[in-house]
Amino acid sequence: MFWADEMADEIIAKYPGKEEFIIRDEKTPSGRVHIGSLRGVVIHGVVAQALKERGKKVRFIYEFNDADPMDGLPVYLDEAKYRQYMGKPLKDVPSPHEQLGGEPAKNYAEYFSREFLKVINDLGFQPEIIYSSDLYKAGHYDEWIKKVLENKDKVRQIYREVSGSEKPEDWYPLQVVCEKCGKTGTTKVTGWDGTNVTYECMPNMVEWGVGCGFKGSCTPFGGQGKLPWKVEWPVKWASMNVDVEGAGKDHAAAGGSHDIAERVCAEVLGTHVPYNIPYEFFLFGGAKMSSSKGKGASVMEVAELIPGALMRFLMIRKKPNQPIDFNPDGPTIPVLFDQYDECAGFYFDKKGEFPDLERAFHFSQVSGGASGVEKHYYPRITRIAFLEQIPHVDLYEEVAKLKGSALTDADRAEVDLRKHYAELWLKDFAPDAYRFTVQETVPVGASALSENQKKFLGAIAETLAEKDWTGDELHGKIHELKEASGMPPKEAFGALYMALLGKESGPQAGWFLEALDKNFLIERFGEISKS
Ligand SMILES: [Zn+2]
Repeated sequence: MFWADEMADEIIAKYPGKEEFIIRDEKTPSGRVHIGSLRGVVIHGVVAQALKERGKKVRFIYEFNDADPMDGLPVYLDEAKYRQYMGKPLKDVPSPHEQLGGEPAKNYAEYFSREFLKVINDLGFQPEIIYSSDLYKAGHYDEWIKKVLENKDKVRQIYREVSGSEKPEDWYPLQVVCEKCGKTGTTKVTGWDGTNVTYECMPNMVEWGVGCGFKGSCTPFGGQGKLPWKVEWPVKWASMNVDVEGAGKDHAAAGGSHDIAERVCAEVLGTHVPYNIPYEFFLFGGAKMSSSKGKGASVMEVAELIPGALMRFLMIRKKPNQPIDFNPDGPTIPVLFDQYDECAGFYFDKKGEFPDLERAFHFSQVSGGASGVEKHYYPRITRIAFLEQIPHVDLYEEVAKLKGSALTDADRAEVDLRKHYAELWLKDFAPDAYRFTVQETVPVGASALSENQKKFLGAIAETLAEKDWTGDELHGKIHELKEASGMPPKEAFGALYMALLGKESGPQAGWFLEALDKNFLIERFGEISKS
C-alpha cells in the first residue's frame, strides 16, 4: 500500500470513532525558505488528502512562527540596516521588499511567509494559515503558559533527562518582549509571582543580539511572553488539539526536541501526543549548484524548474523515512519526468499491476487527484528537448507522429508545458551531449574530413533522395551504409555530426536526420562530399 494510505489507516485506527482530524505543520520565516521545507508541507498535505478520501473531515493548519526572534542575518540582506533588529520578533522586523523586490509586506515574517505560501498554493495545497503572534496576542496560549511557569522545575527536569541539558535552578521556560527595546531573544525571566514575571534584557546572553540592560516586570500573557521552541511545540499541540504532526529529521532524533515535546505534553500539559510522521531531509544539489549555475536552493527558485505535479511527485515517490537528494544538474529532471510518465502509464493503461505507482501518480496531481485528469499522451521530455533544437520544426506535428494519431487539446497542453520545462533544462542543466545547434553554413571542421567520410556523407545524400524515410528506417539504413564504408562508428557518425553541428557527437542519427529538412540535408552532404 502507498505510504500515505497506510498512514491514513493507522491514524484512523489510533483515534477510533473520530470524524474530524487536525493536521498541523509550521515554519519559521527567518529568510528565504529552503526547498527542503517543502517536504513537510507535501507530506502533511497528502496525508490530509488520504484522510479526506476516507470520508473524514480534515483541518490542515500551517503556522508561520513570526513571534520567533531574528537570530541570523541572511547574506542577501543589507547588514548595516538589519543588524539592529537581531533579537526582535520577526513580525517586528521591517519587510525587505525595497531591497529584494516583490509586493510590499507588513513585516519581515510576512514577506518570506508569502513567498513560501505562493509555492504551497501552486502545488494545490490550501492549508489554513496562522501567524503565531496572532495566537499569542489573542491569549490563545495563556492558560498553557501559566501551566508551564507553574511547572518550570518539571520542565527543567525533562530537559535534563531527555537531552542532558542542565538549566540553572532559577531558569524559566519563557522569554518576554522587552518593554524598552522590543527584543525577545535577549531577555531572561528572573521570577514569577503568579501574575507577573520579572525580567532582564541581557547585553551578553546571546552572540547574535545585544540586549539593552533594562530590568522590569510584566504580564507573560497576551503576546508579552514567548515560550522556547521545545516547550512551545507541545503547547501548540495541546492548544489546537493537534492529531497529526510530523517532525523533520533534525527534530526527530533521539534526545531531540520531539522527545522533549512529547514528555512536556504528557507530564506538564496533560494532553495526547499527535501521531508523528518522522521524515528525512530533502537535500538539494549542494554548494556546487549555487556557485556554478548561479541558482539558489530557495523554494521559489527550485519550484520554477519543474511543474507542480512533478514537484509533488519528487517529494512523495520515496517514503518519508528515506532521504531525497535532488541535484537538477545533468539528466535528473528528464529521468524524473520519465518516472512520472511510467506511473501515468500504470494509472491509465495497466490498472492493478503496480497500485503504489498509480497512487503516486494520483497524489502528484495539483488538482487534488487523478480522477480529474484526462488521459493523454506524455511525450518524453528528452524528445521535446531534442525537437526544440531542430530548426523549422512543428512541435505538434512531430509529437503527433510519435503518438501515432492526432493530438487532443490535453495532448497539446502537455506539449506546451513540456516545451517550457525542456527549455529551462537545456539552458541550465542539460549535459553537453543533449545540446546542439544545426549550423547554417558548412562548419569549418568539415574541411578536415577524410575521403572515406565524405563518401559516406555522399551515400547518405543519395539514400535520402530515394524516398521519405521514417526515423526507424533511416536508422537501419545509415547503419548499413556505415558497415559498407568499413569505418568504425565514431568515425562515420563523427562525419555526420561535423557536417551539421560542427562537433564530433550529437543525438541519435536516424531520428536526427528524419527531423531535419530533407533538401537541406541532401544539399549539405552533397556539398561536402564533392569538396
Ligand atoms: Zn531591551
